[in-house]
Amino acid sequence: MIETIAVPELTAAEQRGFWRRVAVRGSDECWPWLGGKHSEGYGEVYLRGGRYYAHRLAWSLYTGRGSELDGYLVIHTCDNPGCVSPYHLRRATAADNAQDMVRKGRGLRGERTGMQSSLLTRSGQFAPPVAPSESWEPGLA
Ligand SMILES: [Zn+2]
Repeated sequence: MIETIAVPELTAAEQRGFWRRVAVRGSDECWPWLGGKHSEGYGEVYLRGGRYYAHRLAWSLYTGRGSELDGYLVIHTCDNPGCVSPYHLRRATAADNAQDMVRKGRGLRGERTGMQSSLLTRSGQFAPPVAPSESWEPGLA
């Protein structure tokens, strides 16, 4: 399923509801979505009458740039559709995604770490060195 629509900015209450459904773990692990799942394994969220992918909302919360997702995919560098870890998500075009799949098919998995760190450096807003505490809420307070 390809989805390239912008996602809305979440209110504080909506953000709390979102994070209650995430198993926050270390930076080198996937953060499983605990809420409802799409048939393809992607987390899904019903919000204001619409349905959104959890990983797209997660990327938006981490970066504050949900309005910039119009026309873009959010892809997983870990290939785990149920993951919403900020370390494993990046914005991409459909063409990027196709290249990514080709590259992974050739087994060049060693690039993965570099890709993640460049994502977080670019966003400049979300780079916790360790797993956040239970009370931690990224994005807008
Ligand atoms: Zn992951």
